[in-house]
Amino acid sequence: MARISPQIRQEILDKTDFLSVYQEHVRLQKKGASYWGLCPFHTEKTPSFSVSSDTGLFYCFGCHKGGSIIQFLMDVEKLTYTEAMEELARKAGVQLQFEESEYAAEGEKDRQALFELYDRLSKTFHWFLINHPSGQRALDVLHKRGLGDDLIEKFSLGYAPANRQWLYSFLKTKGYSDNFLKHSGLFSKNNQYWPLFADRIMFPISDARGRIIAFGGRAMDQEGPKYINSPETVIFKKQDTLFALSQAIDSIKSLDEALICEGYMDVLSFHAAGITNAVAPLGTAFTSHQAMAIRRRASKVVLCFDSDEAGLHAAERACSIAAAVGLETSVLLPEGGKDASEILEKKGAGELTRMAKNTINAGHFLLTRAGQLFDISTMEGKAKAVSFLFPFLDALDSDVRRQEYIKEIGRTLGVGAHAVEMDYAKAKVSGIYRSMNASASSSSSGTSHSARTSDLVFVAAAILSSDPFRLLSEHLDSDSIDDPRARDLFSALQEAQKEGVQDVDGILSLCADDAAVRFVREVDASGELKAGIEKILQDGLAQKRKAALEKERKKLVAQLQSVKAGDGDIAQEKMILEEIMKIDGELKAQATGGDIDE
Ligand SMILES: [Zn+2]
Repeated sequence: MARISPQIRQEILDKTDFLSVYQEHVRLQKKGASYWGLCPFHTEKTPSFSVSSDTGLFYCFGCHKGGSIIQFLMDVEKLTYTEAMEELARKAGVQLQFEESEYAAEGEKDRQALFELYDRLSKTFHWFLINHPSGQRALDVLHKRGLGDDLIEKFSLGYAPANRQWLYSFLKTKGYSDNFLKHSGLFSKNNQYWPLFADRIMFPISDARGRIIAFGGRAMDQEGPKYINSPETVIFKKQDTLFALSQAIDSIKSLDEALICEGYMDVLSFHAAGITNAVAPLGTAFTSHQAMAIRRRASKVVLCFDSDEAGLHAAERACSIAAAVGLETSVLLPEGGKDASEILEKKGAGELTRMAKNTINAGHFLLTRAGQLFDISTMEGKAKAVSFLFPFLDALDSDVRRQEYIKEIGRTLGVGAHAVEMDYAKAKVSGIYRSMNASASSSSSGTSHSARTSDLVFVAAAILSSDPFRLLSEHLDSDSIDDPRARDLFSALQEAQKEGVQDVDGILSLCADDAAVRFVREVDASGELKAGIEKILQDGLAQKRKAALEKERKKLVAQLQSVKAGDGDIAQEKMILEEIMKIDGELKAQATGGDIDE
């Protein structure tokens, strides 16, 4: 793979405003020496994700993910190392140069080629829709649904030709190999020449950065399924992706709210009506991954699913999924039509905008649903209604809110809050009811989980200090380090100096011992060593020097005894004695804190 030199890497890191890069994905608050926020990598309701203001490294006390801003970008945006560096270089205004350009790894080449293929194809589909007579019918459908040319342009909507021979031969003329096309997600699994999309309105699906990674296609005739989506490929993971996220992202951030609706046409209808924070899952239920993709950018979510029974069920589930990641959740019920698209078509943008304001909070919505689904005039119906609400109760992020909701349930259903609470407690203990929130870890933030030794603290302090290589320039001997974890860190320091690596994360990446690395990340994140770092280093160095002198003295004493027992060489005896006395002087000077007189 093309290599970025350590110097360029360092320059990019030096010029990176790391906090602003983190804050594009996590809402951070300063507490002590670090910044804290909700971890984008695991489900949680109290912040255990931290960014050290000293080193710029991140660390999560809940899931133990940690590393540099580069690692963060790679994980959170699913980028390769090179892509993450490109992104940082662009932000920092550094010209990225590659040291050597060998062939990129096969996987990486395929990914890039797929991005190019989808980009090229979406432009071609768009051209068919706008310029080719065969696309006219599709264009008419879109216009009739109230979608204007601006919107069609913004979302790069397209039309896939009805001729099923076209796609394969088109791509062959562009030089793509059969083997590559087989894994492109564009052709039938059973017939490599048969396109999945033909005579369909095409909706390009992009990742958060706006790169097209898949398509959704809507049938023009009632032949075959109405909607189909691309299968998953190396660049497309359905569970992680939301339609229109890249177009909605600015709006979601500035409104601090996302609108989740059911499908492509709903999203487009909302955008057409000026409600530009609308996104949609891809023909599947709303997932926790998608909920977290929202939570990284906003604290509130509005769910707007179809008003039919399937849509209502989808909304019920989505309420708990959204609440479980800490999103303040409300529900928007379409009025005057089955969905947003129908309302826009029949009643216009004004009506859709008006309707979008009538949200109800998720708790009320679910209580209302419980009343519709069960006969709450009977005891049995009440019991069923109560257990219907358990997933949402579980998803609530505080005991206070849970208690309030339990009271509300009691009031609405005409049962005592205590009875509801008892039922809920019993269900949790019996395990009959499996929590949807089971994967959420209960993490306590700010405490270190590693057993610490003075060696470990000492070497960690050195790595986190302004001069990480101080232990080496002070000629510390690795034999004087007892804790194997600390010794592993020390070896990483030696390795780093040899390699010309200077940043903390680079040093840690050279340490094979995960426990040691985790410890450094934890104390960096908690900032606990910060104030005392110089003292830890001085005390540690003094202690190691003392240990080394004592060891040397012991060796000399043994030597002296063997000389005495042997020939009794007076000159040699005297020389050893002088050495011992010199060491004694040094030890004494150290004990009194004075300087050694050379
Ligand atoms: Zn985490």
